[in-house]
Amino acid sequence: NVDWQGKHVTVAGLGVSGIPAARALHERGALVTVVNDGDDERSRAQAAELEADGITVRLGDGATLPGSTELVVTAPGWKPDKPLFLAAAEAGVPVWGDVELAWRLRGPGAAPWLAVTGTNGKTTTVRMLASILEAAGLRTAAVGNIGVSLLDAVLGDETYDVLAVELSSYQLHWAPSLRAHSGAVLNLAPDHLDWHGSMAGYAADKGRIYEGNTVACVYNAQDGATEDLVREADVEEGCRAIGFTLGTPAPSQLGVVDGILVDRAFVADRQKQAQELAEVGDVNPPAPHNIANALAAAALARAFGVQPAAVRDGLRAFRPDAHRIEHVADVDGVTYIDDSKATNTHAAEASLAAYEPIVWIAGGLAKGATFDELVSGAAKRLRGVVLIGADRALIREALARHAPEVPVVDLDRTDTGAMSAAVREAAGLAEPGDTVLLAPACASMDMFVNYNKRGEAFADAVRGLSGESA
Ligand code: ADP
Repeated sequence: NVDWQGKHVTVAGLGVSGIPAARALHERGALVTVVNDGDDERSRAQAAELEADGITVRLGDGATLPGSTELVVTAPGWKPDKPLFLAAAEAGVPVWGDVELAWRLRGPGAAPWLAVTGTNGKTTTVRMLASILEAAGLRTAAVGNIGVSLLDAVLGDETYDVLAVELSSYQLHWAPSLRAHSGAVLNLAPDHLDWHGSMAGYAADKGRIYEGNTVACVYNAQDGATEDLVREADVEEGCRAIGFTLGTPAPSQLGVVDGILVDRAFVADRQKQAQELAEVGDVNPPAPHNIANALAAAALARAFGVQPAAVRDGLRAFRPDAHRIEHVADVDGVTYIDDSKATNTHAAEASLAAYEPIVWIAGGLAKGATFDELVSGAAKRLRGVVLIGADRALIREALARHAPEVPVVDLDRTDTGAMSAAVREAAGLAEPGDTVLLAPACASMDMFVNYNKRGEAFADAVRGLSGESA
């Protein structure tokens, strides 16, 4: 345990993680300096508040490491190749992220962590897991990248039996000593490669979630890369590798048999081969990728000793967050689904696989992605496509290569009003029984503040349609 008294700590970044970190360390007697790249009105106001409490803040200079620094605590998003970190490495100064700090500051007897990472499905899985743990009567919270911050969960007045923790690849990168009770990698597809430097670097950071696990390393049996990460991890003796699959499970796996989620990993009754947990229809929505999320959540809960009935009750009680395959309305026999959160191709692939026939609304910022695989996989299910946003040409070209017969409306627009035009075009292409699916496969920032706003614009436009048809 660290003696913070008089320790020189540099906190990198004013922000949602930096400010509470600076305060927590200051309260423990550390000599804290916050360094921040920006020097705008907002950061000046934040700096004034911290300085009033005796914390030093340097605005407009996030690159220089103060000479006396013994430890750097960084906001998770800061890229590892920043000069500040190079200087820290040179000086032999350790760098911790917000997760590492929370892990180190947690008290004795603190709640164990059930941790979830993956390219897509993290938030959903962590919320499902928290719902299951609650159904089991445990005091818990969904924390990490969502809702309650980890530091608040660890230092706050609330006491927990167990935490359901969402961890991004950035957070894992900066969390060298984290040791979860059990961890899961849901899937691995290229994302954020500019930050991690390479796919290997990204995978290695995700794989950190398994390091030192005590009970279970949960992997996706249909995504070999996740299983490789388990093999490479250094875990506690007795820790088991537990797979999940949408097919029939092997021993030590959870899977699906005749529409039932079954567990062949944690079967208490030696007479039985498998334990039934829930029905596919208990999962909301029961789309394939979401059943995978439910199985991962169930695996972690079962590793913690949760009974089958609580898995079922927790899944039934779970409600998905907004803009994640959200049913908006049915208008003239056409179903409108908002999956604005599908900000990369791997996510869009999941929702495109869940419907047929589809009128697909796509486009935005591609972040360096290619669309051939996504488009060729979905081609058969497409009734038509409406394209919006900055990088729509990339999708149009992929459609021309792999789905030349599918009608495409290229709106050639990036203004906010483009969404209502897109919905009208989509309504024109759709026939009764079809699904109009907003699954952009791209980030939203070319047209909207964030994916929430993009989803709201879609839902507003759909409500506009139903007003007309009523
Ligand atoms: P994250 O927190 O990892 O961003 P979310 O749970 O918020 O994940 O889901 C984001 C989007 O990813 C969803 O809208 C859906 O399109 C897609 N998605 C969710 N779960 C999966 C999965 N298991 N595999 C692939 N795509 C998924």
